Amino acid sequence: MYRARAAGNGLSAIHARLLEHRWAAISPRRVGSMTRSMATSPGDHGRGSKADSEHSILYWTMASCAVFVPLFFALTERRKDSSPPDGAQHPPPKNLPNASPTLAWERKSHVPHTTSRSPEASFGYIFVGAGTASFAAEEAVREKDPNADILIISDEGLPPYQRPPLSKELWLEGADVQQLTFKDWRGGNRDIFYAHPSSYLTSASASELKGPLPSGKSGKLLVAKVVAVDPSKKTVSLDNGVLLSFERGVLLATGGRPRQPAFSLPEGKATIYRTANDYQQLEQITKATKSILIIGNGFLGSELAAALSSRGVNITQAFEEDGHLALTLPRYLSQWTTSRIRSQGVNVLPNTRFTSAKEDPKRGVVVETSDGGSVVADHVVLTLGVQPNSEVAKGARMAVDPEKGGIAVNSFLEAVPGVYAAGDVISFQDTALGQRRQFEHHDHAVMSGKTAGSNLVGAKTPYTHQPMFWFEVGPEINCEAVGILDATLPTVGVWAKEDQAEKRYRKGVVFYLREKQVVGILMWNLFGKIGTARRILEQRRMVHDISEIAGYFDVHDS
Ligand SMILES: Cc1cc2nc3c(=O)[nH]c(=O)nc-3n(C[C@H](O)[C@H](O)[C@H](O)COP(=O)(O)OP(=O)(O)OC[C@H]3O[C@@H](n4cnc5c(N)ncnc54)[C@H](O)[C@@H]3O)c2cc1C
Repeated sequence: MYRARAAGNGLSAIHARLLEHRWAAISPRRVGSMTRSMATSPGDHGRGSKADSEHSILYWTMASCAVFVPLFFALTERRKDSSPPDGAQHPPPKNLPNASPTLAWERKSHVPHTTSRSPEASFGYIFVGAGTASFAAEEAVREKDPNADILIISDEGLPPYQRPPLSKELWLEGADVQQLTFKDWRGGNRDIFYAHPSSYLTSASASELKGPLPSGKSGKLLVAKVVAVDPSKKTVSLDNGVLLSFERGVLLATGGRPRQPAFSLPEGKATIYRTANDYQQLEQITKATKSILIIGNGFLGSELAAALSSRGVNITQAFEEDGHLALTLPRYLSQWTTSRIRSQGVNVLPNTRFTSAKEDPKRGVVVETSDGGSVVADHVVLTLGVQPNSEVAKGARMAVDPEKGGIAVNSFLEAVPGVYAAGDVISFQDTALGQRRQFEHHDHAVMSGKTAGSNLVGAKTPYTHQPMFWFEVGPEINCEAVGILDATLPTVGVWAKEDQAEKRYRKGVVFYLREKQVVGILMWNLFGKIGTARRILEQRRMVHDISEIAGYFDVHDS
């Protein structure tokens, strides 16, 4: 059922399942923009024509220069450096409490540490990471080769699942914490998994996953951590010393991990939030807790502050900037957002930098600030952004983005010949904006995963998708965006007229400008316009067109 084709509308299973989740729990008004976003997907480009192949060669040449020239310098630099890759810093895999019967492997004793000289098992494809990008790639490979032998390896221990509900729907009424199910906007039950966990043949031992899939299973999941990839030998090394080989290709879809604070926090009193396991633990904690301090000012911290404030817990959100989402929103909008989040009962502490934390048996966790003050809470949640899990690529001497650390890929999402990468972990060339980007959002994970998967089976499709993202901060702020949303850029905002101050920025569109060109568009409580926004970026529209292009967004329609 999970992998069934969407009947009648020509959408592939991957589109149907992945995008259905994204739109599942939100307003029906957004369905229009879903259709548009899919019309621009790379999968819609025809393949095989002469023009396309010339296009591909051009892309490959340009992309190869972009990747392999820096790679050459990176390699010559790194030969001097004999330090080991810093993969050991990755947090250890966590198990879900009270795992469901389908996750019975979690209770097995640990696989012994062995060092094998020859590969313990061989697979057609190995995908490192079991997130959205990996699942999208798996579906894309199976579209071409339904019986492909794909091994997905995850150190998180769960089959592929989506993360957005972890800060939204799963905190609302009707969610089931253990089953990870939630209610969509129609009142229907959904879960976070792309395919039912029981559809994966799951083990912590690779040799148990060799050979054809038994009936009733549609995928293979190895619970392990990959520490090295050798593209020339076509092998992957696990942290228990086991060596695996792949015949056809490898995908790096390792995502990102949360940034750590600069100071230590008392054990058991802090959650660095990213995974389903973090959600389950925090959900339990909120039941036994009176106050929670959320540190961080990104989408995740703000979404969680709004979601947890409806739980009868005193929520404080603190950050260094002077307003919510201050690195993303123009100042007036950031200040207004802060006032709306305060009105939902969140105690907001802007301009706050924490320096240390300790546990006081009587008061709870005392987190000290740089100005000599402190904030006391029963529990602390950290949402400090993500950093890419690119250690495996660094170890294999693939190029990484010198600034942000993502795996540098060419336009076909190849890191080096035969090794593809997708999702949060990649640094890719945005063709419309003419710059390298890392984009840690769901739509990019879906579409880059799909492109990498189809290229693994020989498609040679360039990744030209302009990824969108969305965020929802409480019931009043529901946004979609494309391009670069950087608060240091000049912006032009067009807002629906409202007389009451608390509704002043109820609905509108904000254009971000770089050298007078529109490079980012934020649609604020405005739906169904993603396709329009993408076209504006692709056409490189300029500031003097603003009054014309603002008209496309129907801001003043009720
Ligand atoms: C709580 C939350 C809410 C979000 N909400 C939104 C939203 O509203 N809108 C939006 O656009 N985006 C949202 N995002 C972002 C979106 O979920 C991510 O962009 C997406 O999950 C990225 O998918 P991925 O497959 O690249 O990486 P991931 O989902 O991070 O998956 C990578 C997997 O690889 C595993 N892994 C890493 N290294 C190894 C290794 N060496 N060996 C084995 N396994 C490894 C990791 O443990 C992980 O399970 C949200 C993210 C979070 C955390």
